[in-house]
Amino acid sequence: MALSVIFTEKASDGINLQLNLREELQSWDVICPNPSVADAMRTSISRYDGKNDFQTLTINKFLQDLFLTFFPSNASQDEQQSKLVRKSELLKYLATIWKSVFPDERESYFHQAFNLFTDLRSFTLNPALIEDILSHYDEVVAKAIRYFWKITDDQGLIDEHQAYQNILNALSDPEYRDQNELFPKGLIFSGFTHLSGNQVELLKFIGKYTDVVIPIPSEIIKDSLRTDWVDWVRTQAEHIEEFEPHKYGGELRRYSFSRGQGNLLLKELTKSHGEGNVLFVNSSIGMKEILEVPKRNYFYKSELELFEGILKTTKENIEEKYLKNIGDEVSYEELKDYLSQNQKEIVLAPNKKAKDFLTIKLLGSLIKELDEWADLSAVNEVIRSFDMQILLEMTKLNLPRNFNIPILKEQKQSILGLKDLYQIDLSETNYVFVDSGHDLSMGGATQYPKDVQEILITLGPMRRKGLDLLFHISQIKEILSSSKSILLLESGLEKHDPTWNQLLSDFDLSQDKIKIDKEKSQVKDQEVDLSKFKEVSKLSPTRMQSYLECPRKYYYQYILKLGEEPDKKDSVDSRVLGDIEHAVVQEYLKAGIDWSMESFDNILNEKIKELPRYYLEDKALYDEIYAEVRFFAKQSITELLKLKVLDEDLVFEIEWKMKSEEASGSADVIGFSKKMGPIVIDLKRSSGSIPDKKEIEELRKIQLWYYLNFSFGKDWDPEDFTLMGYINLSDPDQSLVFYQDSEIASKLEEVDFLSNKALIPFKKDVVECLEAFNELYQDTLRRMNVEKKFEINPESVSNCLYCPGSAICSRVVGGVS
Ligand code: SF4
Repeated sequence: MALSVIFTEKASDGINLQLNLREELQSWDVICPNPSVADAMRTSISRYDGKNDFQTLTINKFLQDLFLTFFPSNASQDEQQSKLVRKSELLKYLATIWKSVFPDERESYFHQAFNLFTDLRSFTLNPALIEDILSHYDEVVAKAIRYFWKITDDQGLIDEHQAYQNILNALSDPEYRDQNELFPKGLIFSGFTHLSGNQVELLKFIGKYTDVVIPIPSEIIKDSLRTDWVDWVRTQAEHIEEFEPHKYGGELRRYSFSRGQGNLLLKELTKSHGEGNVLFVNSSIGMKEILEVPKRNYFYKSELELFEGILKTTKENIEEKYLKNIGDEVSYEELKDYLSQNQKEIVLAPNKKAKDFLTIKLLGSLIKELDEWADLSAVNEVIRSFDMQILLEMTKLNLPRNFNIPILKEQKQSILGLKDLYQIDLSETNYVFVDSGHDLSMGGATQYPKDVQEILITLGPMRRKGLDLLFHISQIKEILSSSKSILLLESGLEKHDPTWNQLLSDFDLSQDKIKIDKEKSQVKDQEVDLSKFKEVSKLSPTRMQSYLECPRKYYYQYILKLGEEPDKKDSVDSRVLGDIEHAVVQEYLKAGIDWSMESFDNILNEKIKELPRYYLEDKALYDEIYAEVRFFAKQSITELLKLKVLDEDLVFEIEWKMKSEEASGSADVIGFSKKMGPIVIDLKRSSGSIPDKKEIEELRKIQLWYYLNFSFGKDWDPEDFTLMGYINLSDPDQSLVFYQDSEIASKLEEVDFLSNKALIPFKKDVVECLEAFNELYQDTLRRMNVEKKFEINPESVSNCLYCPGSAICSRVVGGVS
């Protein structure tokens, strides 16, 4: 009996090892880090002989069961000792403490302190040992962490880290010392990419009672750091078995595809090589991945955010009704009545839809959380926006997870993602699909500054994204080296993407023998009708983006003018909303005053009178517009005013017309700062319309580049931009704003700009990017006027999702995607 670490030759040997151990006399439990890996492991093990004689469970379940063995809830132990709290419950307790002790401090400090507190406890439970670390953080954050620690200890709240310690203490008790039946089975800890110091210590102790085995692919060790858990567990294990890492290499069945053409290649390959599982190198499977697969008889499990929209609407309604302004509040009773009344109205309404049942469920959960919140302390009987944020977070955590699973008569192949790597059967055909949107990234730093790392390493191993990546790489290499696997790789990734460059460096890539017959793979196309074609002399950003996404999409949108809706008079037109919002923001910022709710409402009330008459006469429509405009305009102004910290003479222009003859359209917000340089901001109502960082950097989404290039006259140099990005008005945390100067970022952090979560450094060469943009602009203009074919050639399959022509496009109708 001992804690053993086995450094296996290949990643899959972890599973083979489990099967071999089955032959031994004792039986085994397989412990996995999370439900996804446990599911994958279960499927994988059962596949070998059609039955699963291992019990597979998650580490959380293992901990809970073990804790109850030692501290059964009905035992006469000190009651506090069995009070095992989940992280979500701890959040509730500590947020209540925060309200009482730090009523005037910024809310963002609470979240920073809470996250740091829970993470530091995975290193040590001794608060004296973290004092040096706290000196590197803001004084309020450090003070809050000390307080949280004390309360957690004084109240006997047992988080997962304390639970490990308590079990360890109980095992050291002479009462248990000789009871080997405590652990009737051996334990295999499989699929872990991280174990904390507390966990390793407990496993070592359990090793005195039963066999504890941790399989780790040998390849990981050569690139791991001394701060990583794999090195830590190696020093703690009593028994180490090491196999040489497998040397991957040789021929690889690899096919390249141009951006957006992956599904055509996949279709051709499945015709010539037969159907197989499709592995996307993405963390989860969504509509985009499902649409890449040519047939609809594949199994997949994609997570559904069913409650997301309802949660957002509920939040907005409560804010609008009770918490419009900073400092607003509502009593617990009034809020509960409001929620209960809403729930009752939906329950009693005839002809309910699925959405209504979800709303009933969500409101029920929120009321339950509200009751528990108010029960915790008298300070929680008054609800402000901080309370609301915690309540919604708690509600979200406790709502059931939902999945989209196809109903199939017969399941043959699956669509898989990175979470399912342990499930891959190497004896089957597996297509590994990699495009530039893949989720394997070399960014592998820890979240701690260097000085803090130096202290932490003396306490326990540190979680590192780069190590997670090494585990994925080791599994993917093994999958690729199987003779049944086929790699579909977007052209250029093997050279320009550092992760794929490294991952494929051991393989022979010259095997790209079978070229896809482009003619054959082309979708049978419809003729384009050019009778309405007019030559264009300049491009707006939306026109240019549309053509770049797919020339045929441009044709549908701008030549056939599909998807253009006539003015809607019985519902709110988003263009009307946008215009009035911009007018309010413009007027307010022009006045050059600090934030004042009264001034804001005066301007809003004046501007809203400019709405078309039919909106003013329809009370319901008017109320809807008023509420929306008020919410979004207020958000825009309060965030933009924070930028004044950079330069109080900063001037904002809203709906700014382009300064170049070549360009058209207008930018939402342009900032002119003599001290700092130009600023470009686009306002979005949701995160769905904000591109990702990579898409902007690679000029696949050009809107920001367009505004930066064309908005400024000769007195301003766009290369020196201060900030450039998108503000998400419904959730500022989900914004994306690039900066070039870290001093600017730290100044904005002080004023909590976008909750300090959206600023990212721009690391590419701006001059080169602007040159590339100008070339792209000219080339796009030339091509759309000269070629006139408007080919079906989507840059990414996701562009088809919002294409106005998707109902008639032969690529979709023809069944390719
Ligand atoms: S549906 Fe897709 S392929 Fe067809 S025109 Fe639209 S974007 Fe292009």
